Amino acid sequence: MNYNSCAIEVNKKCILSCAHCCQDYKYGYEYISFSYFKKMIDEICKCDRIKAICLTGGEPFSNTDILIKYFEILANTGRYLTLVTSGLRANNYEFTYSLLIKLNKLGLKMITISVDEFHYKFVKSQNLINLLKVCNKLNIKSEVQIAIINSSNLSENINPIKKYLARSNIRVFPVYPIGRASIIQKEEIINYNLYDNLKCGKGYSFEIEYDGSVNPCCSPYAKYIDLHLGNIYHDSIFKIFKNLENHLILLYLRNKGFRPFIKIAESKGIAYPDRVTSSCELCYYLFSDNKYLDYILSLNDYLTKEK
Ligand code: SF4
Ligand code: SF4
Repeated sequence: MNYNSCAIEVNKKCILSCAHCCQDYKYGYEYISFSYFKKMIDEICKCDRIKAICLTGGEPFSNTDILIKYFEILANTGRYLTLVTSGLRANNYEFTYSLLIKLNKLGLKMITISVDEFHYKFVKSQNLINLLKVCNKLNIKSEVQIAIINSSNLSENINPIKKYLARSNIRVFPVYPIGRASIIQKEEIINYNLYDNLKCGKGYSFEIEYDGSVNPCCSPYAKYIDLHLGNIYHDSIFKIFKNLENHLILLYLRNKGFRPFIKIAESKGIAYPDRVTSSCELCYYLFSDNKYLDYILSLNDYLTKEK
């Protein structure tokens, strides 16, 4: 596991309410306080292994004054700074330019922009164009992430912004049926069956939640899975790395895949779906529910013997 970055959920609420959201945020802002944010960043930066920090939410652009203050705290950390946004607040080119030039001077290197039919209900394509134009002008890298369901029309989503995408990475992924998205019709969710080859493929970035909980990945499922590594407000970053390196279940998921867990689930009569959207959804079925506590403990015994 080559962890070199972390994503920080700076607010636990969102002022949008996208139907495919993997959270079920209530309306509002509620940001991490500056003193807690500083405490968190100071702890993270004691560890040279973490080279990049990404701000996510919620929506980090909900309050751009607060966002600028976070970047002032991040400015001298020497880390590669990125953020994820829906493009909210970027409705005016001059405002977008003045915001991004400030953030860029404070160290912002890359922006990930969400583009899909769900966000388009709240954020106009002109906002995305403003963001992409300013990124191109200021040499800020951009990535466009597109969540899809079976009826999505990819070209319809991309067409309004395609002229500005030449320098962007594009990432397409299925909507995960969790959080608010759990009520999307089943037939709309893109899923498949490849249990034999499923492995956890995300061994490079922690996610730190609003309350300081540290998860071993940035998957939308991570919040709901009992694989937490500690809390950045109470545990040192070195203890969190130690917890990660000693985490038998994660080691197995990443090196050997899900097969041993499925075998035990079958022997215990534990139900799991025959098709999933991703390995993360299977992870969720196996490790999220309290009723699996005995099961998880028995896995630990089993894994310790097998180690
Ligand atoms: S998908 Fe992002 S922008 Fe939309 S409601 Fe969820 S957190 Fe907010
Ligand atoms: S498989 Fe589990 S541990 Fe791995 S990225 Fe997905 S949710 Fe995280």
